Amino acid sequence: MKAESKLDINLSTFNGKTIAVLGLGKSGLPAAYALKKFGANILAWDDDVYQRDAAKKQGLPLVDLNNIDMKGVSLMLLSPGIPLAHPSPHPVVNKAKMAGCEIVCDIEILARAEPNAFFIGITGTNGKSTTTALIGHLLNKLGKKAVIGGNIGKPALTLSSMGENGIYVLELSSYQLELISSPTFNLSVLLNISPDHIDRHGSMEGYISAKRRIFSQKSKTIGAVIGVDDSICRDIHRNLSKAEKPVIAISAERPICNGVYVENGWLIDDRYKSKCRIIDLSKVERLPGLHNAQNTAAAYAAVSLILNKNAAKLREVADSISDFPGLEHRQELVAITNGCRFINDSKATNANATARALECNNNIIWIAGGRAKEGGIEELNSYFSKILHVFLIGESANEFAQTLEGKAPYTISIDLIKATENAIELAIKEDKPCVVLLSPACSSFDQFPDFEARGKTFRDTVKNILGNRL
Ligand code: ADP
Repeated sequence: MKAESKLDINLSTFNGKTIAVLGLGKSGLPAAYALKKFGANILAWDDDVYQRDAAKKQGLPLVDLNNIDMKGVSLMLLSPGIPLAHPSPHPVVNKAKMAGCEIVCDIEILARAEPNAFFIGITGTNGKSTTTALIGHLLNKLGKKAVIGGNIGKPALTLSSMGENGIYVLELSSYQLELISSPTFNLSVLLNISPDHIDRHGSMEGYISAKRRIFSQKSKTIGAVIGVDDSICRDIHRNLSKAEKPVIAISAERPICNGVYVENGWLIDDRYKSKCRIIDLSKVERLPGLHNAQNTAAAYAAVSLILNKNAAKLREVADSISDFPGLEHRQELVAITNGCRFINDSKATNANATARALECNNNIIWIAGGRAKEGGIEELNSYFSKILHVFLIGESANEFAQTLEGKAPYTISIDLIKATENAIELAIKEDKPCVVLLSPACSSFDQFPDFEARGKTFRDTVKNILGNRL
């Protein structure tokens, strides 16, 4: 994205302030540009020369923050990818701390620039993007002025100004949450917590405490939604449910008295005199699996808080869940032909994410591999009986072949285009309905710039060979 693309948010409150910007990537570059446009004195830096060149081309003043005195710098905008504390703080972070400079991310700037807008914050170890997109979809269908952003879609300071009647629906990573200091959210959603990013938070406790910052709420809060399917979130729910505002517990696994949950495929709202059956989720094609049941329960519960349990409107919400278009690269259905479904799950960059896709499909022709994570595909053993054939790609091919030996038939195809061609050939010969699934259980960096490029290659190859049959 070009930094100078539409700038709608009024940042004049930062006029005349000296702001250091460390990290000139996806969020830092447009933020620096927007702040400069509104009269902030920007000192921009990135350790990567290519990022610096990109900033220079956009007219941003570069200053090596490693070599300046930070006194007089009132604020430092830090890219969430740069370590704040662990494994060790970036040297410039240490300097900024010593100089008493406040360190924030672009979400904090957005919250200060738009004090009257309504902020929904969504976090969790998994399901953030899907839940954020679904909440945005549901609100838009209800005719609300809402925009999604944060860790998904456009960077915060390039979003539209929402003003008093508008809603920001923001996906927040733990790294971003660490860099938000003001009470920001009117409605907070925590989906789940399992071990992740420990290196960046020092310990599991550090990770949990970063996630808990989603409950840093404005005085005008309307409540919170918490998934209670893991013990960490159950504890957080127990503590928070004593709060004055409603805290809705949601579950994809078990009935919750006075909460929202999924039972026999149905989304149930148990906050009324008699429990309400909202929608049969097994019929919602774009939100397959138990994991998406959790995401949908959370999105429904969040929107119901905004609607103040208006029963007629809640019917509309149920209908709008059915027409959610889904997100690219997350079990994205790209084609159906002769009973065979082609699914792009390129976002599955580890075995745990791939398990979600193997769980909800059968007769699978699986394309897997890339740059393997620790443990490879060992933990997927119990799904191998559902697999017709595996086409292996990338660096991990030999390692995965060893794991599959004697358990599922495989071919080493090496690259994704070849694997997709091989998979289509096999699917055409197959006499029962089957699924061609790209769910790599690996990062893409050995063969692609990112998981999006990998998913697009799969989708384009399928469409080139089959035509647009969806
Ligand atoms: P995030 O933004 O947190 O990475 P996404 O919504 O992009 O999550 O989903 C990415 C992958 O994570 C999905 O393809 C699926 O494999 C898995 N996933 C999604 N939602 C959940 C959930 N609620 N619980 C566990 N895994 C999930």
